[in-house]
Amino acid sequence: MSTEHKNRVSEINTTANWLSDLALDHVNALTPYESARRLFAGSGADTGQVWLNANESPFAGEYAVDSSVFNRYPDCQPDSVIKGYAKYANLKAAQTLVTRGADEGIELIIRAFCEPRKDSILICPPTYGMYAISAQTFNVGVQKSVLNDDFTLNIADILTYVGKVKAVFICSPNNPTGTSVSKQDIVTVLEAFKDQAIVVVDEAYIEFDIAQNQTDLLEQYEHLVILRTLSKAFALAGLRCGFTLASAAIVQTLLKVIAPYPIPAPVAQVASKALESDGLLKMHSDVDLLKAELIALREALTDIGDIQIVGNINANFVLFRTQRKTQLMAFLVKNKMLIRDQSKQINLNNCLRISIGTPEQNNTLLALIKAFFADGNQ
Ligand SMILES: *Cc1c(COP(=O)(O)O)cnc(C)c1O
Repeated sequence: MSTEHKNRVSEINTTANWLSDLALDHVNALTPYESARRLFAGSGADTGQVWLNANESPFAGEYAVDSSVFNRYPDCQPDSVIKGYAKYANLKAAQTLVTRGADEGIELIIRAFCEPRKDSILICPPTYGMYAISAQTFNVGVQKSVLNDDFTLNIADILTYVGKVKAVFICSPNNPTGTSVSKQDIVTVLEAFKDQAIVVVDEAYIEFDIAQNQTDLLEQYEHLVILRTLSKAFALAGLRCGFTLASAAIVQTLLKVIAPYPIPAPVAQVASKALESDGLLKMHSDVDLLKAELIALREALTDIGDIQIVGNINANFVLFRTQRKTQLMAFLVKNKMLIRDQSKQINLNNCLRISIGTPEQNNTLLALIKAFFADGNQ
């Protein structure tokens, strides 16, 4: 190591010391978010890489924006977006909050209802990672009730947390298992936590299993919150736009902690377009195509040697188990295809998740997986 390099390293370390003394302990313990796309870093020009790792839609829409209003601050809750989503979800505008992705909805609930260092949330793993990450960011505790072997809720266990948590996060359809929670189980949890906790049902993938949406329960249960997003079926992950559906009273509480201008004007313009009838038609036809692709890919994978399908078909991804997941991931990355390793999740050892892409991308992926298992040396 050159002297110059050594000096720079020690300078960085000194900086890190005063900084970690100043920063909060629980913040020092966190790691910044890193996109899985970094796996491709250094692989040269990014041509031909296929991302089937983040449950994004492969079908981008086309939108134009009107820049003539960009000199003004936007509305906190743009009317056209609120009205558009309320109509789509068959709810009242007062029950609808628009946020910077569903992820901001998760954060607002934790900030509004959980006292740092004192309160906890309940999550039901294996599930979406942001509930725990958001809680940790605000120094809020995370309790876990592991799903049953068939990925249904362990109701008896969940009920032991009444009085011990301020919010219960249920993901349905669940990421990464693709399983939905029955209305009966949601109602049991709602009844048990009445006056005790907010019950959050994350419906990020509900368009892929619309029959199991829980919005009808909002009428009866004032402590129910439903999370939605334009990032998945609506093919607008880059927009960062989500919705929190709840009683008017909860919406008012969350409005107290949301940023003054959370929805940039171009985002509002695109979101309201996506919620008009043409946008909804595109979304529904995309969903039909992706569901057909999912079922075909799932069936094809079943026939391949070491692969065992895990979970259900209620979202836009397939989860499977293979003893050779590390080698398969490396082989796919080498061939410019990225899927998602879920093997660190509780009860998902050796599991990988494929987000459904275009028919062409799915075929390419399937051919690669077949080639991998056909060649015993891989
Ligand atoms: C993708 C996803 C979200 C986040 O959606 P954004 O609107 O992009 O923040 C929320 N919940 C689940 C279960 C997801 O998979």
